[in-house]
Amino acid sequence: MDFKFRIGTKVIFKKGCVKENKEEFPKYGNKCIIVTGRKSGKASGALDDVIDVLQELKIDYTVFDGVLNNPTLENVKEGGEAAAQFGADFVVGIGGGSPLDAAKAVAVLATNDIEPIDLYKNIYDNAPLPILAIPTTAGTGSEVTPYSILTRKDIKTKKSFANEGIFPKVAFMDARYTESMPYSVTVNTAIDALSHAVEGYMSKRSTELSDVLAKESIQIFGQCIDALVNKEIDFNCREKLLYMSMLAGMVISQTGTTMMHSLGYMLTYFKDVPHGKANGLLMKEYFKFNYEAAKDKVDNIMKLLNLKDVNEFGKVMDKLLSKDIELTEEEYSRYASIAVGQKSMTYNPRSVSEEDLVNVLKRSLT
Ligand code: NAP
Ligand code: FE
Repeated sequence: MDFKFRIGTKVIFKKGCVKENKEEFPKYGNKCIIVTGRKSGKASGALDDVIDVLQELKIDYTVFDGVLNNPTLENVKEGGEAAAQFGADFVVGIGGGSPLDAAKAVAVLATNDIEPIDLYKNIYDNAPLPILAIPTTAGTGSEVTPYSILTRKDIKTKKSFANEGIFPKVAFMDARYTESMPYSVTVNTAIDALSHAVEGYMSKRSTELSDVLAKESIQIFGQCIDALVNKEIDFNCREKLLYMSMLAGMVISQTGTTMMHSLGYMLTYFKDVPHGKANGLLMKEYFKFNYEAAKDKVDNIMKLLNLKDVNEFGKVMDKLLSKDIELTEEEYSRYASIAVGQKSMTYNPRSVSEEDLVNVLKRSLT
């Protein structure tokens, strides 16, 4: 056996967990910046719960609710400045992956006088502020990962930075906060979580222990397929999705992602396709492309999902996602040429050329 395993996050998973565990907050100081999106904090009810707790405990707070979807370097710079100006001791991130990833960047920028581009150097003079994470989507697993994925206009893609210091100290996981998600966000984010479990399992970096989590996560997604397709998503299903997305986050914390994410970033960056949907549109062809190199694993994934084969998987994705993107020949080539250079490509089970990526994109979108 050969593996390392680390999750730097205390997970508290229960309906009502923020208020029931309020003693977690003052452990990290008495001034806090809440980092959230325009709607997600309020719509989910998480922002109100956190503010109630902070007021009760007399913790001084400010709210930065300007996080954009797929946050940019400029966007997190603003948050970092707000945190430094306020003199925050810790950060509470509330939202989907966008606010949680922004909270991580803000935590580093608050204590280090650096430009956001220097986040990628991964050496910081001062430790980031502690982060408490409250997911309101069930998808990215960002509450248990050391990654922050930011939009980079300079290299025309999204790119993550990773640092052990940005593992959230605590993840408060309450599936009630995910109930306000619109149907499309529920589906897209669930598929993002599936893509993490799948890619982590198929990756050359997969390990004995990460596979245990990945297989469990994939199987739980399988239990939710009917509810997602039939739009009958009850609280039990919400909890399952939140749990499987957390497991999948733990998987990619060890393995990273592979070709599906690198290529998906192109559709998000250039065509504004939501992150999970971008991965979902590519997933069937990802399985087909990698089939010969990882036949046993692909077959096992289908078994765990309780589906006959990859074609049946494709039919499920067709029911959940609309194929509404058209690319020109020039776009196919350009996206492939950018994506092929990403490091995560090297961990794909089968080696990938630019031409392969064009083919996968074409088969996925037409
Ligand atoms: P998101 O971009 O955070 O949110 C998508 C949309 O859903 C936003 O409009 C958001 O509103 C809304 N929303 C979120 N929760 C809601 C709720 N409970 N009720 C109503 N509306 C809600 O989506 P996401 O898929 O969770 O995150 C995507 C980002 O995470 C991407 O940048 C992706 O690259 C990144 N990611 C990170 C990791 C990691 O390990 N760190 C892994 C995978 C993906 P607001 O605009 O108000 O927030
Ligand atoms: Fe993802």
